[in-house]
Amino acid sequence: MAMLEVKDLAVNYGVINAVKGVSFEINQGEIVSLIGANGAGKTTILKTISGLLKPASGTITYEGQPIQKQKAPKIVAAGISQVPEGRHIFPGMSVKENLQMGAFLQSNRQSMTDSFEAVYQRFPVLKERLDQDAATLSGGEQQMLAMGRALMSKPKLLLLDEPSMGLAPIFINEIFDIVEAIKEQGTTVLLIEQNAKKALAIADRGYVLASGEVKMSGTGAELLANQDVQKAYLGG
Ligand code: ATP
Repeated sequence: MAMLEVKDLAVNYGVINAVKGVSFEINQGEIVSLIGANGAGKTTILKTISGLLKPASGTITYEGQPIQKQKAPKIVAAGISQVPEGRHIFPGMSVKENLQMGAFLQSNRQSMTDSFEAVYQRFPVLKERLDQDAATLSGGEQQMLAMGRALMSKPKLLLLDEPSMGLAPIFINEIFDIVEAIKEQGTTVLLIEQNAKKALAIADRGYVLASGEVKMSGTGAELLANQDVQKAYLGG
């Protein structure tokens, strides 16, 4: 059984059909990448999985349970955590306070301490800047903070929306390395990226979206080698 199964998902904004009957699945332990041009519907799919948008039709099944009608906090509690596009860290709050916000469902002190330790290990730079205002971090550090905040809830499935967007090349490589390391530690990842080359290179499997529909799917290597994908998304 897949960890997450999205079936015939349709999502509208008023009269705009942003997602038109999309189906895909994610197995435990995988990195699955969704690639596609601006406006293909990627962010809409992510927000619908995390409960921020409600589908017009279709189902989202997580660990055997339908979640498409559940509210966002319940979905986080079930083990799905999202890192939004543009990071949305809380400026005016310290790095530590931002991380605490990611653990808002945890009442257990020890569990909270464990979460902090795990995040410090993954992102040593955050530990060095705990009391610093989050707004003063570089773009790459802010992305790490957004990822660290999502990891504070100890998710089983991490949803990443364009983590490399707007970052300097050196940070881009680091972020992709971190995504791979997160997978290696046992967290399943759904990755949305404009940087299709890198996203497919680290993906077990991928789906190509256009105009709210899945146009192609395969292993990361298959999609990277596909001529249509190369022409449309890999600049070749
Ligand atoms: P991007 O990389 O730009 O985020 P995307 O593939 O994630 O692109 P979506 O943001 O999901 O695409 O957008 C899918 C479609 O829905 C687009 O046509 C977009 O214009 C439209 N859309 C997105 N958000 C809204 C909104 N709040 N109101 C109306 N239309 C929207």
